[in-house]
Amino acid sequence: MLPMQRAYQILNNTYGYADFRLNQQDIIGSLLQGRDVLALMPTGGGKSLCYQIPALARDGVGIVVSPLIALMQDQVDALQQLGIRAAFLNSTLNYGTVLQVERELLEGEIDLLYVAPERLLGEKMLALLERLNSSVGIALFAIDEAHCVSQWGHDFRPEYQQLSVLAERFPGIPRIALTATADQRTRQEIIQQLRLQNADVYINSFDRPNIHYTIRQGQNARQQLWRFIADNHPQDAGIVYCLSRKKVEDTALWLAEQGRVALPYHAGMSADTRREHQQRFLREDGVIIVATIAFGMGIDKPDVRFVAHLSLPKSIEAYYQETGRAGRDGQPSNAWMAYGLQDVITLRQMMQESTASEQQKRVEHHKLQAMLGLCEMTTCRRQALLEYFGEPTPEPCGNCDNCQSPPEVWEAAVAAQKALSCVYRTGQRFGVNYIIDVLLGKDDSRIRQFGHDQLSTYGIGTEHSQAEWRNIFRQLIALGYLSVDVDGHGGLRLTDKSRPLLRGEIELHLRKEQMRERVRKERNRA
Ligand code: ADP
Ligand code: ZN
Repeated sequence: MLPMQRAYQILNNTYGYADFRLNQQDIIGSLLQGRDVLALMPTGGGKSLCYQIPALARDGVGIVVSPLIALMQDQVDALQQLGIRAAFLNSTLNYGTVLQVERELLEGEIDLLYVAPERLLGEKMLALLERLNSSVGIALFAIDEAHCVSQWGHDFRPEYQQLSVLAERFPGIPRIALTATADQRTRQEIIQQLRLQNADVYINSFDRPNIHYTIRQGQNARQQLWRFIADNHPQDAGIVYCLSRKKVEDTALWLAEQGRVALPYHAGMSADTRREHQQRFLREDGVIIVATIAFGMGIDKPDVRFVAHLSLPKSIEAYYQETGRAGRDGQPSNAWMAYGLQDVITLRQMMQESTASEQQKRVEHHKLQAMLGLCEMTTCRRQALLEYFGEPTPEPCGNCDNCQSPPEVWEAAVAAQKALSCVYRTGQRFGVNYIIDVLLGKDDSRIRQFGHDQLSTYGIGTEHSQAEWRNIFRQLIALGYLSVDVDGHGGLRLTDKSRPLLRGEIELHLRKEQMRERVRKERNRA
């Protein structure tokens, strides 16, 4: 039988699927010919089959490197249910089980082995693989979540950079690297670090046309969320992401009070409770899971109808990956988000307080700015998203908030000048609330104590409300005209971009949030 016929047979008989999807067939074809592969496929695209089927069709064991230790047991259980001889090796196993798996491997009783990267790199494991290679054989190496190799990426794992050892020690064995997230730069890093210069590269479109994108500003975010859920998803399953554990618990409780089954999920809960909530989400209909980003990697539920963010993801990659958990079955689904100024400040502070290197912090800052750019843009969000992943599209999508109701903008240069000069004159060390109080000419003891009631900018902003000023400041930060200081107090500073704006050399168009809200209400009433 031809290898590809064998692959089809496995697809039909073992998995029970009629046909390959997307690039699966070509990817499998390359591996069956012994070639290396880099496969970029969106979440839910069906990456696993791309290495599982050739591992089964070729002689020897398929070795799968995966960072998701917590999921290995489930993955292996699922494979065993299909009748596939799968096993895993990671730090959760006791010594006896490890020995047993090793014995079964050498006796040719295992077809697929999942290994954590740090385990694979140990000399003991490499020696075992060499014995395996010269006895039952190794069918292929699959490196899952390959973006972990990238320092530029959001899931950097130093061990991944050492996986080039596989190319050195096992030169004839095909390797496939897979990821759902890769901008141009990450892609290049994967190729270099993993020595995939000669690999066949398969890139599936990252477009998820069935997902509708909405990003709103976050006043009364919870109320907005409820209106969104009640109007669009009264009975659907969905995920609500929040930044903090407390917000997760509060929001779950609140949604439950509105009559929905809403379960919290975060790293501070016991493993048992987390597992129980995850199982209920997977098995029952219409459950909402309210989670920190701890939830989701490897979750495979096809009919998640909405993913809502009650806070800002820290990068476009994270946003894409999290929203990508909606609508895996291809049915219309919503990615909805409400975010506010406080999110930006909190995220900046978290990034600054982390133990990451200066270089890493710069990268994170840059990525957050890109995410803010996506939030504040006034044109098609899908185009911007795909552009970010190196996939320019000629036409606006017609299936995002900006396409469907283009935001109104206003000429905000004068307001911005007032805001920037107030930041400057108060010494570039105060947070947003204080600056707004000065602009509004608030009678406040702190302002008097600093003598800021004597400044020329004191009370020059009364034509805007407090809420409007918060909108203005949020956009100025998002667009890079102001930066949130890194001292942990959220002080605002001018940036290189501020100067031409202050000198009146450029125009500035900002979104008109309040107006949009009013227009929408009137439309609804009509
Ligand atoms: P990814 O790892 O890319 O997120 P998975 O490999 O988990 O995606 O696959 C997502 C879902 O699609 C799984 O339920 C899988 O069984 C299913 N699937 C994959 N390939 C096919 C196919 N050719 N036909 C039907 N379903 C498929
Ligand atoms: Zn659009």
